[in-house]
Amino acid sequence: MESKRDYYEILGVDRDSDQRTIKRAFLKLARTLHPDVNKEPDAEERFKEVNEAYSVLSDERKRANYDQFGNPDGPGGFGSEYVDMSDIFGGGFGDIFDSFFGGGSQGARQARTRGRDMGINLRISLSEAARGCTKTVAYDRLSPCDDCGGTGVAEGGHETICEHCHGTGRVVEVQRTIFGQMQSQTTCPVCHGSGRMVDNPCETCQGEGRTPAHETVKVEIPAGIHSGQAIRIEGRGEAGVRGDSTGDLVVTIQVLEDERFERRGDDLYVMVQVDALDAMLGTVVPMPGILEDDEVNVEVPRGCQYGERVQLNGLGMPRLGGTGRGSLIAVVQVTIPNDLTKAQVDTLQTIRDERAQKHDAQERSDANKASSGRRETKARKRRGPFRSKRR
Ligand SMILES: [Zn+2]
Ligand SMILES: [Zn+2]
Repeated sequence: MESKRDYYEILGVDRDSDQRTIKRAFLKLARTLHPDVNKEPDAEERFKEVNEAYSVLSDERKRANYDQFGNPDGPGGFGSEYVDMSDIFGGGFGDIFDSFFGGGSQGARQARTRGRDMGINLRISLSEAARGCTKTVAYDRLSPCDDCGGTGVAEGGHETICEHCHGTGRVVEVQRTIFGQMQSQTTCPVCHGSGRMVDNPCETCQGEGRTPAHETVKVEIPAGIHSGQAIRIEGRGEAGVRGDSTGDLVVTIQVLEDERFERRGDDLYVMVQVDALDAMLGTVVPMPGILEDDEVNVEVPRGCQYGERVQLNGLGMPRLGGTGRGSLIAVVQVTIPNDLTKAQVDTLQTIRDERAQKHDAQERSDANKASSGRRETKARKRRGPFRSKRR
């Protein structure tokens, strides 16, 4: 695959630009580069590039995918939707776009009056993912026009079949080329593919039956959801043209990283700090769990080593669908106390001396069994490099 220019660069906008800025930049470029207007040899190529960039950046889900993965279809790659140019330009521009897209190898565009699915991203914390939550999200969509009830028809008006295409939404064009006659289907320039006309259009929505609106939607997030999983809310996407079916809203969940817990599947890992003496003697460390009601007591065994794991079953993330919970895995970190009193140091000194004597006795008994050469090495190893120096 050839490398492509950055979409933001193509449109000349910043990465954090809002939709209005992106649309304005696109319209400006599209008008100057349109092949009907611009006769420079690379205009058509650049026009296509600008179109492609806009079709991705104007779609929040594709844009998020592009930002994250460098690919509008996400990491796996799904089928792509197209942008209906006549929607973007309104009725007046539809026909010149049709003539550009319609001819030759491009083939016919399909009529689309159904509302598109829309995608938005929603970030939640790990504890919200653990207990499940309801979030209210604000977003912009084309929603059914209130004034005409989504019909696109003003009072007393009617919807009629488009006479130009006889309701099919498409017209067949015959072109004469050097290869002979070529037939191609294009979207009807009169009804823009819907196959229908309105004799008295609603003024608010100009006969579309839908208007831009800022809306909020409640998203129910089940306990145990994972990053990247999506919740589909039926009928909350883009409204269809004049009462045609409305698309869905697809809310992709991103679970933010937590300061304390690291999630692996349904298990949670947590660091637990214990004093070296506690690690030697064993202890119980109480700590807050991922859910408020959790009672977590990490039982650190006697003689616990640095990095040892203590598993607590049933205290990890709830499994999606409500079938139990994963484990909480505490990873023991040992800290060495450096604030001992003189008396405490003396006590430890005594313990160390006792242990050293025990080792020496053990070595002597080993020496009787092993050869003298091996004994020397073994003894030195066991004693360690510092013991004799400190004594
Ligand atoms: Zn038509
Ligand atoms: Zn209306």
